[in-house]
Amino acid sequence: MAIYDPSIADWQYQQQILMLDVEGALRSGEMWLEYQPKVNIRDGKVRSVEALIRWQHPQFGRIPPDHWIPLAEQVGIIHSVTLWVLDQACQDFAALKARQGDSIGVAVNISAKDIAHPLFHEEAGAITRRHGVSPACVILEITETAAMADPDVARNTIRTLSQMGFRIALDDFGSGHSSLGNLASFPLDELKIDRSFLTDVLLHPVRQKILRAALELGEALDLDVVVEGVEDEAIALWLQQFPGLHGQGYYWGRPERATALRLTANND
Ligand code: C2E
Ligand code: CA
Ligand code: CA
Repeated sequence: MAIYDPSIADWQYQQQILMLDVEGALRSGEMWLEYQPKVNIRDGKVRSVEALIRWQHPQFGRIPPDHWIPLAEQVGIIHSVTLWVLDQACQDFAALKARQGDSIGVAVNISAKDIAHPLFHEEAGAITRRHGVSPACVILEITETAAMADPDVARNTIRTLSQMGFRIALDDFGSGHSSLGNLASFPLDELKIDRSFLTDVLLHPVRQKILRAALELGEALDLDVVVEGVEDEAIALWLQQFPGLHGQGYYWGRPERATALRLTANND
């Protein structure tokens, strides 16, 4: 028998309201993007920034993406969100490139629903064209879980996007279940190692071995490898032993509005 729990009822009510508000919020300025740098761990230079959506709701306050994106995926409105994020990121890109140099890239998160959408590649291509942004400067981040939900569909879409010039990152790698065969069959450019790999990594040699194996896998597949969730200096220094490795995390910078970003110059 289901037991009435007012806190659950409140939560469900809030979630329903939120979903009704998403599209209006995108138009009204309640949503905006913040950017977090991905840096070369050895020299600290910024290669790209990841766009992360923010929502200040007039009734519920600041709502972290983890609290509403999964639901937006379920109810089928994530696609409008993704297109809005890509559009906004491309709009912000000119200023970013002017400051950081031509080699900077911008990353946008896309969902399983986007990958399954038959027109996504055309819509994404149209947005970049409209802003005069080369797809080669845009990294589309797809979580391992999303990519493996329907690997055949994902492979086809990723291949098309990759042929159009977009760069593809596999996000949260190690948190889902990819078969290595599937992994090798996707045309990927970047592997983002899930931050769970860093938990207690300096304390446990076994954990270090596991992280090393993940890094070697990325290297064997000839991918740019980014370690996520680097929060402190000790880990950042330890990671310097791996040549060519990239990192993302509070240690190098928290997500910030485009206008507030203070990035290490990268103009070479
Ligand atoms: P993600 O794609 O893995 O993004 C990285 C998340 O880790 C961000 O959380 C970021 O603020 C956080 N983070 C960065 N450095 C550190 C660190 O050193 N320590 C810790 N503990 N966390 C760190 P955020 O912005 O709350 O986003 C959470 C998730 O929501 C994202 O995870 C992504 O899956 C999703 N998300 C965010 N923006 C978008 C979007 O525009 N579209 C879609 N589809 N999903 C988004
Ligand atoms: Ca991401
Ligand atoms: Ca991630």
